[in-house]
Amino acid sequence: MKKLGLVLGSLILAACGSGAGTNSATAQQLANQLFGAATRGTSAPAEAYGTYARGCADGLVELPETGPTWQAMRLSRNRNWGHPEMISFLQDLSRQAVGIGWQGLYVGDISQPRGGPMTSGHASHQMGLDADIWMLQPASLTLSRTERENISSISVRTEDQRGVTPAWTRQHAALLRAAASDPRVDRVFVAAAVKIEMCRTATPADTPWLQRIRPIAGHNTHFHVRLRCPAGSRHCETQSPTVAELSNGGNGCDDTLTWWVTDYLNPPRRTTPVEPSPEPPQPRRRSAREMIMADLPRQCAQVLERE
Ligand SMILES: [Zn+2]
Repeated sequence: MKKLGLVLGSLILAACGSGAGTNSATAQQLANQLFGAATRGTSAPAEAYGTYARGCADGLVELPETGPTWQAMRLSRNRNWGHPEMISFLQDLSRQAVGIGWQGLYVGDISQPRGGPMTSGHASHQMGLDADIWMLQPASLTLSRTERENISSISVRTEDQRGVTPAWTRQHAALLRAAASDPRVDRVFVAAAVKIEMCRTATPADTPWLQRIRPIAGHNTHFHVRLRCPAGSRHCETQSPTVAELSNGGNGCDDTLTWWVTDYLNPPRRTTPVEPSPEPPQPRRRSAREMIMADLPRQCAQVLERE
C-alpha cells in the first residue's frame, strides 16, 4: 500500500480542487487499478458511496473464508468483502439453505476490500452490496484453497437458453424464494429461463418476492443478490427504476420476460430503414474497467487513502 499512498496523496489534492492542472492526471487514473490493489477494508464505519456500478465503500468486512454453513470461493481474488449487512445476509441465507436440504452455500464474488470497479469481470459489485451465490449444491464445506480455485459451478440452464436443465431443483427455487423474500434484498438476478420456470407455478401470493427476481444475461451458474442501501446510508443510491415499477406492480412473468427467449435470442430483422435520431448521439459512458477516479463519487479518493 506504500506506493499507492504516494499516488493517492496527490489524488486527494486533486479531489479537493487544489493544484488543478498538475495533479489532474491523478484524477484520470484508472480506478480499477487503485481499488484492485487495496488488500483490506478501511477501519472507518461502514458506508456505501454511489451506485452499484459506480461506487466504493468504507468499512467493508470479510466474509470468513469458511463458516458452519458456507465457503467463500476463488479466495485468490480477495473479493469476499462486503458491507456488514451483506455479510449477515449471506450468513443468514446459508443457514436457510440448510433448512431446504443443502449443507450451505458456495459464495462467489462480493466486492473488493474497498469496493470500486474491478480489474476483471462484473460491472457492478462496487459498494459491497452485491454478491454472487453458486448454483452448485455444496458437496463439502471443507474444500481447500486449491479446490476452491479449481472446481466450477454448474449451469441450470440449457445450451439454447430457453429452459432449465435437470440440474435445476426445487431446492434452487426455495433458495431463490428465500433470498428474494428477505427485506434487505432489492433484487435478485437470474437467467431468464430460471425465472420462466419459477413463473410456471406462481400464485398471486408469490408476487411480492417473485417481482424481485429479475432476468438478465448470464447468471446460469450463479445468482446475484443485490441489497438495498442499508438504513441510514446517506451516500448510497438504491437502483431505479424499482422492481415494482419495472413489473408494473406484477410478478414480472410478462412480455418483458419472454423477450429474453424470443427477440433477445433471435433479433427480428428490420424491414424499414431506421430514421435518423434528431438528438445528438450521447457520449458512451465508460465501462467499469475504463472508469477513472473522477468518474466515482468524491468520497472514493478518501476511501483509498484511509487506514
Ligand atoms: Zn454478480
